[in-house]
Amino acid sequence: MILAGGGHTHLEVLRRFAARPLAGVKITVVTRAPETPYSGMLPGWIAGHYGREEVHVDLEPVVREAGASLRIAEVTGLDPDRRRLHLDGAPSLLFDLLSLNVGSAPTGMRLDGAMECGLPVRPTEAFLSRLLSMVGDPSSPARALAGDRLRIAFVGGGVTAVEVALAVKYRLRDQGVDLMLFTEDDEPLSSLSPGARARLLRVLSRRGIRVRTKSRVAKVGPRGPIIVDGEEVEVDVTVLATGAEAPPWVEESGLALDPRGFVAVDAALRSTSHPHVFAAGDVSTVLPHPRPKAGVFAVRQGPPLHANLERALLDKEPRPFQPQSVFLTLVSTGDRYAVGGRGRWSFEGRWVWYLKDWIDRRWMSRWRL
Ligand SMILES: Cc1cc2nc3c(=O)[nH]c(=O)nc-3n(C[C@H](O)[C@H](O)[C@H](O)COP(=O)(O)OP(=O)(O)OC[C@H]3O[C@@H](n4cnc5c(N)ncnc54)[C@H](O)[C@@H]3O)c2cc1C
Repeated sequence: MILAGGGHTHLEVLRRFAARPLAGVKITVVTRAPETPYSGMLPGWIAGHYGREEVHVDLEPVVREAGASLRIAEVTGLDPDRRRLHLDGAPSLLFDLLSLNVGSAPTGMRLDGAMECGLPVRPTEAFLSRLLSMVGDPSSPARALAGDRLRIAFVGGGVTAVEVALAVKYRLRDQGVDLMLFTEDDEPLSSLSPGARARLLRVLSRRGIRVRTKSRVAKVGPRGPIIVDGEEVEVDVTVLATGAEAPPWVEESGLALDPRGFVAVDAALRSTSHPHVFAAGDVSTVLPHPRPKAGVFAVRQGPPLHANLERALLDKEPRPFQPQSVFLTLVSTGDRYAVGGRGRWSFEGRWVWYLKDWIDRRWMSRWRL
């Protein structure tokens, strides 16, 4: 069995195989880096509350505990019919059973000029170091253009865009930065309840972060994004925090996909076209129960994915999984403050941040082996 990607769901799968090993099964984890970031703490890392090691899981001990082997390699393709996983610069791997948990890529990279001039929020480590070097280095093009204040545009109107913008504002609080958020939607944060959305919009306004709705960014240039109606907005840095899309090799694999290009899986997390392929987290869409692309859902899929991989290995029929429809959302606001929501309820305060911090640290402590 190959577990492709060391994402949130596979961590839980490995933990469960460590607790209850299955005889006669060879598990190989193929992932591009020996450490994997924990999404819940990324905004706190950007804001400066956590160090790098606090927000990364070292995969090697987790894989070892499960009796599996770790292969650090970039997956570049998949042939599900011939049961082959293609790697960069190495022979393909054969599998009987495959599980994909490789995350997603930001859609904004398809924007004209994004590759050359945009700053994607993913991978977060590269984002943070490029942002800090642009701001800290007085000879950088961004600084030179900026004059007194650095102008940073965020493209995207989802929770990630807002949470990262607030984290950046806090991190650069002594630098003099102006932040703007551009979203093509009628209003940002459409995945949140009206109460939680209103609270976050108030925080954005208090922090002086301007939000422009119904503004589709068509092009990213060295001097900023150009809005579709032709208006050119000058900014010094354009951060791409748009929605997620599946990696291109997934789209080309021949697996059944949803209309947005993510792997289509059934309620048992199994590919609707290839029963020997499972997928979880951002890369997949559970057709009967679609949810936003967020780490919290990837985490929750861990136990059912483990149970169904085990059942598939034992030639048993996988069982459907019904995810929660009401869930707790906690969004940090840069400083040690957060907004929360559950169903129609919403709340905010410093205590919400400390609750989130406690939940996140507790989750991370599972992987310190
Ligand atoms: C800055 C930022 C902040 C966020 N904050 C939050 C938050 O607070 N709460 C929340 O719920 N969500 C948040 N998200 C969204 C969240 O990060 C994703 O939804 C989540 O990481 C998806 O988890 P996953 O397990 O599917 O994949 P990932 O966590 O992305 O893991 C994918 C794994 O696969 C590996 N991999 C990827 N491609 C390949 C390849 N080609 N070959 C080999 N290995 C590969 C990676 O190295 C990684 O180990 C945030 C996102 C960003 C960018």
